[in-house]
Amino acid sequence: MRIAYACPACSATVTLDGIEARTVLQCTACSAAVAIPDNAIGLETPGIAATSVAGGSRLNRCLVCPSTELFVRKDFPQQLGLAIVVVGLLASCVAWAWHELIVTFAILFATAAVDVVLYLFMPDCLSCYRCGARYRGDGLRAQRGGFDLETHEKYRQQLARSRQMAGR
Ligand SMILES: [Zn+2]
Ligand SMILES: [Zn+2]
Repeated sequence: MRIAYACPACSATVTLDGIEARTVLQCTACSAAVAIPDNAIGLETPGIAATSVAGGSRLNRCLVCPSTELFVRKDFPQQLGLAIVVVGLLASCVAWAWHELIVTFAILFATAAVDVVLYLFMPDCLSCYRCGARYRGDGLRAQRGGFDLETHEKYRQQLARSRQMAGR
C-alpha cells in the first residue's frame, strides 16, 4: 500500500511505498516522523499476508491524523479531467466557426466519452476527510463508503475553527 500525505511539520507532499511493513512514516524533506498506530492496518483475511494476492490490507484509520473516517474516491487528477474538457470545448468551437456541424458534435461526444472511459479505468483510492492523505494499493480494499458531504462539512468547519483560534 502506498500513501501520499502532507507532512504535518513542513507541509511537503510525501509519498511512501510499502506502508504495511513500516512502523513510522518519515518525511523525505524534513525527516519528521509520524508513528503508525499498532491497529491501524488490519488484514482482510486473518492469516494471509497483506502482500499476497488473496489477502488485502484493511485500513482502520488514517495513519497521519487521528481520524477514522476515510472515503473512496477515484484516483484521478482533476486538472487532467478539466484539461480534456477545455481542449474538447475549444476544438468544438473551432469546428463550429468553420461550420462543421457534424465535426463539432463528434468532438463534444468524443470528449465526454474520453472522460467516461478514464473514470471507469481509474483505480480507487482512499482519502482522509480530515487531513487529505491518500492511500493507494492493489491489496487495499475499498471498505469504506463513498464521499459523504456531511462528514466532509464537519471536518471543513473544524479546520476553519482551528484556523480562527490560531489567528487570535
Ligand atoms: Zn516534512
Ligand atoms: Zn488523516
